[in-house]
Amino acid sequence: MDKLSIIVPCYNEQESIPLFYSAVQKVMKTIPDLSYEYWFVNDGSHDNTLNELHGLHQKDPEHVHFVSFSRNFGKEAALYAGLQAATGNYIVVMDVDLQDPPEFLPKMYKLIKTGEYDCIGTRRVDRKGEAKFKSFLSDMFYKVVNRISNTEIVPGARDYRMMTRQMVDAVLAMPEYNRFSKGIFSWVGFKTKYLDYHNVERVAGESDWNTWKLFKYAMDGIADFSQAPLNIAVWIGTTSFIISIIGFFAVIIRHFLDPDSSIFGWASLVCIILLLGGLQLLCIGILGKYLGRIYIQVKNRPIYIIKEKK
Ligand code: UDP
Ligand code: MG
Repeated sequence: MDKLSIIVPCYNEQESIPLFYSAVQKVMKTIPDLSYEYWFVNDGSHDNTLNELHGLHQKDPEHVHFVSFSRNFGKEAALYAGLQAATGNYIVVMDVDLQDPPEFLPKMYKLIKTGEYDCIGTRRVDRKGEAKFKSFLSDMFYKVVNRISNTEIVPGARDYRMMTRQMVDAVLAMPEYNRFSKGIFSWVGFKTKYLDYHNVERVAGESDWNTWKLFKYAMDGIADFSQAPLNIAVWIGTTSFIISIIGFFAVIIRHFLDPDSSIFGWASLVCIILLLGGLQLLCIGILGKYLGRIYIQVKNRPIYIIKEKK
């Protein structure tokens, strides 16, 4: 019999957990011949999340399991921990706030069982209820990242996806510290089918993702899956070198045509010095960003630390 592992990262989700559990239970009972397990991951919540999970585990020890972190390690680390704990031959990743509709599970299972696909993903086709500015930034992100990276990042794709054991093993074999799941799921390849759906607002609690945090996440995603920013230094350097050669000849020619003219131009000189100094700092900054990532990776620290597992 097939077994489905449901991976659910939770950070301060005391209100959502019972709602999530009953909604998913209702759906799971409609799928015949499929055993299942939940792996909730408590990502260092400060509220009653852990107690909720203890309660659920006591109520339904056969299905409900959880991993609890020693502190907040972030959703990416929580996903990784969940995937490592999963024992099923199919694995689905879901948010606990019911923004990932559980009604899709039977359809996903039916599709993946045919063996034609390795992964059934989901894709939001609109962003109803979300700030305009945030949607704009996210559209920009997908455009930029898909231009400069060889790894395709599908616009609007959620982490909500059902995968085969084979694909999950491939994801687990990537123990990188900076984890950008949208990129990793795409990088490992395999055949993915996307189901479209309309945005659903979160059932309880608040999203922890403000625009600034999302922006930083996007920048990390670009640095993780593209080396294009590193080329900026090469292009800026080449361009300013060519311009300076042209300028050099222009100054010499002007000197012979009009010897007095060389006393002008100190203001533009200051601007040019500032411009080049600024560009140099920018390029060093980009280098530093990649260097920092190498530094974090070579330290080889664990992606998460477990305090309790049931
Ligand atoms: N989450 C987590 N660790 C964090 C932040 C979020 O495990 O540091 C979980 C959260 O509990 C939820 C999922 O990740 O199940 C998605 O978070 P959220 O709803 O805040 O993000 P959004 O849906 O706005 O992208
Ligand atoms: Mg959410």
